[in-house]
Amino acid sequence: MKRSEHLLVCLMEECAEVQQAVAKSLRFGLEDHHPERPDLTNEAEILTEFYQLVAVMDLLQEEEMISSLSEVEVERIKKRKLEKLGEYMDYSRNTCHLVED
Ligand SMILES: [Mg+2]
Repeated sequence: MKRSEHLLVCLMEECAEVQQAVAKSLRFGLEDHHPERPDLTNEAEILTEFYQLVAVMDLLQEEEMISSLSEVEVERIKKRKLEKLGEYMDYSRNTCHLVED
């Protein structure tokens, strides 16, 4: 396996670890924790895994294996995502599948 492939697998693993931390939070709550890690809540696990993902992405971009985007482009992508989230939340609310917290 090439180094670039190894780093892409690391990126994939971190994505999966974020997913797992979010799933645990949904199943047991943000304030709960793994029995063997009482000092790390599920919320903290989400943050830890997210920033580990960011660290791997940063490395991939620093080494130019993945393109870097301008801050303007990043903000445009984030803004568009938030707009889509709102649209689909409205759709889900209107089809009676989304209830307010
Ligand atoms: Mg991790």
